[in-house]
Amino acid sequence: MLRLGLKGRYALVAATAMVVLALLLAAIAIVQRDGDRRTAGVAGDEVRALGRMALEQRGRTLAHVLAEALTNPVYFVDLEAIGDFTRPVLSEPDVRYVLVFDAKGRILHDGSSAIAAFGQSMEGPMSGQAALAASTLVQSDASLVDVTEPLFLGGQRLGGVRIGLSREAYDRAAEQAAAALMRNADRVAAERLRALAWPLAGLLALIGFGLWLVATKLVRPIRAIAAHARALEEGRFQQHLDTARGDELGDLMRSMSALGASLAAHDRDVRRLAYVDSLTGLPNRLMLREALARAMMVGRSSGTGLALLFIDLDDFKRINDTLGHDAGDEALAQVAHRLESRLAAVRLPAQPDVTGSAGDMVARFGGDEFVALLFGGDLRARARQFAEGVFEAVREPLAAGGRSVHLNASIGITLFPDDGDDPQGLMKCGDIAMYEAKQAGKNCYRYFTPAMTRVAEERLHLEHDLRQALAGGGLAVHYQPIVELRSGRIAGAEALLRWGHPQRGLVPPMLFVGIAEDFGLIAELGRFALERACADAVRWPDGQGGAPFVSVNLSVKQLRDPGLPREIAATLARHGLPTSRLHVELTESALLDSEPLALTALAEMRRLGIRIWLDDFGTGFSGLSHLRRVPVDGVKIDRSFVQDLLSDREDLALTSAIMAMAGSLGIEAIAEGVETEAQLEILRNLRCDLGQGFFLGHPVPQEELLAVLAVLARGLRAEG
Ligand code: C2E
Ligand code: CA
Ligand code: CA
Repeated sequence: MLRLGLKGRYALVAATAMVVLALLLAAIAIVQRDGDRRTAGVAGDEVRALGRMALEQRGRTLAHVLAEALTNPVYFVDLEAIGDFTRPVLSEPDVRYVLVFDAKGRILHDGSSAIAAFGQSMEGPMSGQAALAASTLVQSDASLVDVTEPLFLGGQRLGGVRIGLSREAYDRAAEQAAAALMRNADRVAAERLRALAWPLAGLLALIGFGLWLVATKLVRPIRAIAAHARALEEGRFQQHLDTARGDELGDLMRSMSALGASLAAHDRDVRRLAYVDSLTGLPNRLMLREALARAMMVGRSSGTGLALLFIDLDDFKRINDTLGHDAGDEALAQVAHRLESRLAAVRLPAQPDVTGSAGDMVARFGGDEFVALLFGGDLRARARQFAEGVFEAVREPLAAGGRSVHLNASIGITLFPDDGDDPQGLMKCGDIAMYEAKQAGKNCYRYFTPAMTRVAEERLHLEHDLRQALAGGGLAVHYQPIVELRSGRIAGAEALLRWGHPQRGLVPPMLFVGIAEDFGLIAELGRFALERACADAVRWPDGQGGAPFVSVNLSVKQLRDPGLPREIAATLARHGLPTSRLHVELTESALLDSEPLALTALAEMRRLGIRIWLDDFGTGFSGLSHLRRVPVDGVKIDRSFVQDLLSDREDLALTSAIMAMAGSLGIEAIAEGVETEAQLEILRNLRCDLGQGFFLGHPVPQEELLAVLAVLARGLRAEG
């Protein structure tokens, strides 16, 4: 449908009004002219009547005068005298005929010299009346006025005289007068119309001016208001609407302007809510994403690079688990604050404005993860400087839940445009580098390298393959003997997972166990190992001092499941393996990571009769004193100590200290990674209880272990 603007509508109304006005004026003009013409017509009729009356009067006068003169001649029938009187009358231009007749209506004289009609009766329709007239008689038809004057002498009617007057001249004169009147009326009407034309033109000009006025004074501001409203609708709140008008439109425009300002303020609030992390006050993930995308877009054309730092607090979960989530939040807020001030410390004097906001930024990415973006300058150097600042910042004691805690961080650094060209890609690079930093032992930073992607991708492939192996039986468990050093007998065996990958061959357990932990497969993998170990161990023959125990490795992630102790008990029961024959190995760090949960799980397992060993002991940070608090049954001295026993005096000292400590606590000491006879000798001298290593026996499949155990059993029997 055609949409008429305000201006169009006004024009339409104005045009309609003008047409109506013009029609009205025309109607008035026509009515007036018609009136004038009618008046002129009436006047014409009047003129015509007057003419007729004058003609009749003339006829009467002529007839009367003639009758006076003719009374005697008619009485005496003196034709000559009659002729003398009648001829001058007949010669009058408008007199058609003059008839003198006797009492019987017979013609005595007609003004001619021959009097051809003498004695004849008068002819014509008016003759009858005329012949009998006793007084003046006026008759008329279309062309004539007929006046008859009777002649009397002493009461005797002698006859009469009849004069016919032509109406023609009078009628013509009357007609001309009427026409002149009519012409005059028309002229007056035309003049009146001309007189009206000027005011009409003036009115037209006035309406035009009004239209222009409406356009400028009314339509234009309304259009401006409409444009402003559209701008608001599109989210451009900063548009200004200036006016000096004092009328209602001015008020409206000022209100609209104020509305824009208040919408802008609301918009800022909403944006703040949407873009700011409520806990830390830092920009949130959303804002980070937008800033990153914008910076990369600008950077692609301007060549401005950026550094992205993916910061993950190490073992932050521990704070949440031990001190509660409120304490965790408290710590995070402080960390956020410190990160910001460390960022300010590396800020360039002149910030290139590429984010459209404040340049360098640090955002909370989620949980205990933060992401910093640095723009401009020597990005590598600044990133390193900031990373070191971050380590310092989180190392300083934080107050959380009324306690003082220390933190570490792992940081992945990646650069645009060197490492990635799109926001997602760059974030992934940062994540991968951060993961590498974690793998490298935490509390450090790593720059992203393309090789890391290959590693990350490989991990993804392996994860996929591992799922298949778990489902399709590609996994096995091998057993490495654990020997009682005093007697040399096989006291037990450690269950070690083996995965023969169809293409890659043997995959190191460290690698796929780590993958399982990261991808949530560890519970299933652990269940598989335990299941296999129990099933196999029940078949191990009794030796000297009873059947060997089986030692199963547990991951820290498995410990988080509160149902684990019950599950283990159920597995043991199902296979008929006594709880005393199961040992579980936990890394030292595993216990530190999730102390409260782990401690209850451990206590539960110990209550069931399962023995707990601390694996890789000496590599963690717990120190020897920590052992007193942890309810364990043994410590496995890490391979690295055993390896250097001969060369490193400190390792020797530490190993002997661990042995002494274990002895005083009444727990077992197990030496891992015994590879040589010399190492074994030293360990024996240190009165180490148990040993494990290639020198004592490689990890072997169940069948092989069974064979070894059988040989030993035979040897025992032979000895006995
Ligand atoms: P771990 O618990 O420290 O296991 C002992 C590792 O030392 C085994 O490596 C074993 O083959 C190796 N080893 C034994 N004797 C010697 C020696 O004399 N010299 C040297 N250099 N190494 C020796 P493996 O089988 O590659 O396992 C590596 C790690 O994978 C294990 O370290 C353990 O942390 C993990 N793992 C293996 N199986 C499982 C499992 O079922 N569950 C869990 N959670 N972790 C497992
Ligand atoms: Ca182990
Ligand atoms: Ca170990």
